[in-house]
Amino acid sequence: MHPETLAIYQSRIADANAGAVAPPLSLSTTFERDADGTFPHGHIYGRTSNPNRDALEAALAQLEGGFAGLAFSSGQAATMTLLLALRPGDHVILGDDAYHGTPALLEELFHPWGLTYTRVDFTDLEAIRSSIHENTRLIWIETPSNPLLKIADIQAIADMAHQAGAWCACDNTWATPILQRPLDLGCDVVMHSTTKYIGGHSDVLSGALIFKEDGDFYQQVRRYQTLGGAVAAPFDCWMLLRGIKTLTTRIRAQSATALKLAEFLNQHPAVEAVHYPGLENHPGHAIAQQQMAMFGAMLSVQIRGRAEAARAVAGRVQLFIRATSLGGIESLIEHRASVEGPNSTTPQNLLRISVGLEHADDLIADLEQALSPASH
Ligand SMILES: *Cc1c(COP(=O)(O)O)cnc(C)c1O
Repeated sequence: MHPETLAIYQSRIADANAGAVAPPLSLSTTFERDADGTFPHGHIYGRTSNPNRDALEAALAQLEGGFAGLAFSSGQAATMTLLLALRPGDHVILGDDAYHGTPALLEELFHPWGLTYTRVDFTDLEAIRSSIHENTRLIWIETPSNPLLKIADIQAIADMAHQAGAWCACDNTWATPILQRPLDLGCDVVMHSTTKYIGGHSDVLSGALIFKEDGDFYQQVRRYQTLGGAVAAPFDCWMLLRGIKTLTTRIRAQSATALKLAEFLNQHPAVEAVHYPGLENHPGHAIAQQQMAMFGAMLSVQIRGRAEAARAVAGRVQLFIRATSLGGIESLIEHRASVEGPNSTTPQNLLRISVGLEHADDLIADLEQALSPASH
């Protein structure tokens, strides 16, 4: 089945009571036993499983081409639970511009607990290779990266991880399984902040892990999911299943618009640089072309001048909403260094854009008036 068909088909929940077409929402935290003490419907207690969560986990696994999915209350809860499968003394390698919450978890939560980690430029395979130690247990890829849209070669890095006896994970939040399937390229596990494109409407906070195969790694993380209990709530799962039905169409339309915006910005005299892997002059363009179906709906732009110049552009937009996060149907713009705080290494003149479902011409007109205020 093609992904758009799979997304519709796999997100159904059969309703024996009323034959409802839209999936019923199962809020019950506890499930009835038969007279003989068994659980005929397979559910016992809401932390362990719930019909809406089961359906979401199965749909995510199908879309990513994995063995099983696990749904969490946030992307960070998913990452945290995965890291719990490591052991004190283990070493992790991740990108120098990974989503800022990932190194923050390693530093503040897992470093005191005994994990060490190294951050390197993931476009430099030699740099990754030379940071592998005997105790390296996990290589964490994020591509396209945040906020510079750097492209990491998933297959090459997964091979390197396996040669070293380490697991390879990929944060696939920005690409979605419609544009990029890391498990097909050799990764062992995919992570999503489903808060973003999978939910797609900026109204659900949630996360997921999808495992390539059954085994100790999957079984352990599945155990920690239900033991630790940072699971996705039934209504959140219901909302995400609804989002999944339109994911394919949304991400394709949003990616097509993003390419148009990137091309417009790339020739604008007030722009110093555009970071978008769909542009031929982007250093990761060739690899992105190999491993992605389209180039995604995120882009960053550096405005000529300093932080004030970039903030002024963000201050003049009328269609774009000034807010952090991404992946919704409304276009967002943010001065990234302000969000990341004083330790940020993001260029001060950089604006990050999440492209929504508005018409490309309207978004371009808005950027045009924001970039050249004198001429309007
Ligand atoms: C938002 C985000 C996360 C964190 O997910 P939450 O749902 O906010 O906990 C992780 N990785 C990437 C790439 C993200 O964009």
